[in-house]
This record gives sequence, structure tokens and C-alpha cells, in this order.
Amino acid sequence: RVELKDVSKSYDGKTKVIKEINVDINQGEFFVLVGPSGCGKSTMLRMIAGLEEVSNGSLYIGEELANKLAPSQRNLSMVFQNYALYPHLSVQQNITFGLHTKKISKQEQKKRCLEAAEMLGLSELLSRKPRQLSGGQRQRVALARAIVTHAPICLMDEPLSNLDAKLRAKMRSEIRQIQRKLGITMIYVTHDQTEAMTMADRMMILHNGEVQQIGKPLEIYNQPVNTFVASFIGSPP
Ligand code: ATP
Ligand code: MG
Repeated sequence: RVELKDVSKSYDGKTKVIKEINVDINQGEFFVLVGPSGCGKSTMLRMIAGLEEVSNGSLYIGEELANKLAPSQRNLSMVFQNYALYPHLSVQQNITFGLHTKKISKQEQKKRCLEAAEMLGLSELLSRKPRQLSGGQRQRVALARAIVTHAPICLMDEPLSNLDAKLRAKMRSEIRQIQRKLGITMIYVTHDQTEAMTMADRMMILHNGEVQQIGKPLEIYNQPVNTFVASFIGSPP
């Protein structure tokens, strides 16, 4: 479970880019954070990851107050938009890179890597370098790297935005299947309302750092609370 209580963020000590957000994300939930560019999605995700400090309010991960926890102590994995693969390392080395610091045996690393590669159709590509892969394959490597950590919470920031429409659709359902299979709590950022509508158990719509509405996609579609939500989601008038 991830809970935000009255969480605000200011980068300059004056303007709040996140304003008193309250949300309780359930274990095993696929939670989508959606809103226009600059509304504060990445900021919120980075606060949960511990890459940005919370300015005000409380962040709970599990039962623990996490405001001051280092990223590595939060037991979560993160997938970025640009994949951030190491060009000089093989696919296998990229996938297991984050495990080296965790005192996990070579044997266990290999086992987890093969499992994740199997799940994502990368088994034949483990000895290649990132530059020898297609965009979709690189994206899968980034996903595999998150999966091998066995972290119960996964954060993704617009992970599919570099892919073409067809591949994006395929990857959406792959991500959804893997998340269900492993029972991971997913917090997924996108500015694409179709992606949000098709993937989310629940979604949060952000605008100028403020929560507009939280709910199931169809509830929000059928009962938008204001005109911003209605036009963003494309609800019928
Ligand atoms: P996008 O969809 O374009 O990725 P976003 O919803 O992820 O947008 P954020 O990156 O969270 O938006 O940015 C929210 C606001 O905070 C923006 O006004 C942005 O300019 C500002 N901002 C983000 N990072 C910083 C930073 N490190 N220092 C100062 N201001 C920042
Ligand atoms: Mg962003």
C-alpha cells in the first residue's frame, strides 16, 4: 500500500507544483496517474520513489512513514521513459545490474534473469547489447530489470511513449498481464487518456498539481466532476 496524506511539493519554496494530495493506493492495484504535460505527474512519482523530497505532508509505504527513507530502502522498482540501459553491458547484465548491491547470489541472479527474460520474450537476446535491439525489445529489458528485483511496488513514468501505436497496445497488455500475475502494486504515469482508461483499476486525474478526480475509469467517464475532467477524458456532454 502507498498512501499520500496532504502531500505538497515546491521546488523553489514558493510555488507548489503538487498541492495537498490525498490518495491511498491499494496493494496489487494498477493505479494510473494521468494529466496534461506539466501537471506534476513525474514529480509525484519521483517523491514516491525517493528521488525528490516531499515538501509537506506524509508519505507511507506499507505501514511505514517513508518521507525520509532512501530510495533503496523503499522496496520499489522504477521504469523510466528513456529506458536508461547501459550501452556497454549485455542484455543479461543490464537486467541483473540492480541486484549486485543487494547481496543476491550469482546463481539466484541468473535464475531471476532467465525467469524475467522468459516472461518478456527476451530469452534469445540475453547476450546482445542494447544497440542491437529494437525499441520494443529495449523497453522489455527495462521491464525485466524492474521485475527481477521482486519489489512489491513498481513505478513507471510514461514507459511506452517512444513506441509506435501497435507496439504500445501490445506492451500495454503485456504489462497488465505481468502485473496481475505477480500481484505487484503498480503506479503508472501517462498523459494518454486511452492508456489510462484501458489499463487502470483506478486512476487519478491531475491538473496544475491538484487532484481533480480519483476513481475507476468508467465511473470517471460517466460522472466527471468538472468540465476539465470531462474534456480531458472525452466524456459525452
Ligand atoms: P510531462 O507530462 O510533461 O512529463 P509532468 O506532469 O510529469 O509533465 P512534472 O515534471 O512533474 O510534470 O513538472 C511539474 C511542474 O514542476 C512543472 O511546472 C515543471 O516545470 C516543474 N518542475 C519539474 N521538475 C523541476 C525541478 N527539478 N526544478 C524546478 N521545477 C521543476
Ligand atoms: Mg513527466
